[in-house]
Amino acid sequence: MPSVTDPEMRQAVADRIRFYNDLGIYDFYRREPASSEVVTSLQTERDSARRQEPIEEMPRTKASVAVVAAEENSSLAASSKPEAGVQDPVRALQIIREDIGDCTRCKLSKQGRKQIVFGVGNPNADLMFIGEAPGADEDMKGEPFVGRAGQLLTNMIKAMGLSRAEVYIANIIKCRPPGNRQPERDECETCSPFLMRQIAVVKPKAIVALGAVAAKTLLALNAPMSEFRGHWYDFRGTKLAVTYHPAFLLRDPRQKKETWKDLQMVMRELGLPMPAASSHE
Ligand code: SF4
Repeated sequence: MPSVTDPEMRQAVADRIRFYNDLGIYDFYRREPASSEVVTSLQTERDSARRQEPIEEMPRTKASVAVVAAEENSSLAASSKPEAGVQDPVRALQIIREDIGDCTRCKLSKQGRKQIVFGVGNPNADLMFIGEAPGADEDMKGEPFVGRAGQLLTNMIKAMGLSRAEVYIANIIKCRPPGNRQPERDECETCSPFLMRQIAVVKPKAIVALGAVAAKTLLALNAPMSEFRGHWYDFRGTKLAVTYHPAFLLRDPRQKKETWKDLQMVMRELGLPMPAASSHE
């Protein structure tokens, strides 16, 4: 990693890191060039062009694209995190949750959220699902994916031969946006470092991003779902696939068949047995 030699730049970077540390954000990283992020047939030039395109599931433009604002200027490595060195993933996740506290780091803390929705599941899971944001049911119960969309996700997990308790489920942001609007970029930038720390603790073999907001935020790419789907991406050394958000499938059940194809791709990667005669096809 290149060092920062200019004294003014060093000071600016140090100030920036201190600012984010004060916010409770410790996970800084430098995004690799797009060509090394994507392990798929997506071509770099097409990726670049599509950064300007609208996304079919998220026509509003405030969707997040960047993962962490700090990466824009910082070429420094991560500073220490409170859970660093903690071997027990249960305890490490507890530490992250304690670090979040009664969070007021972004404006969603003042827009009607009932509680923070941290994440749920096996802290040693091979498979992690990441959605967009809590909805009303999740806000009420404090657990991700517990409403109608959550029931569908549970069924999707069962179709893969797994149980909810065997996987880990979280969202890009941890507080319900008012009126279930899409998360805004600054909210994703402020909250997603906590998710990055959860991923680093769980260390899944594969991640499934549910919907365009999760895909865009995690991959820092702007593409339609038709381009995101059907490929493996390299997310910090972990394989990441994209499929439709269950809430979208409730609105358009015809896409369930396509979703099942995505899940089968994940099952193959994880070595999960395929149903001999699938009722999902
Ligand atoms: S969305 Fe995240 S950063 Fe914003 S208040 Fe909730 S926990 Fe904090």
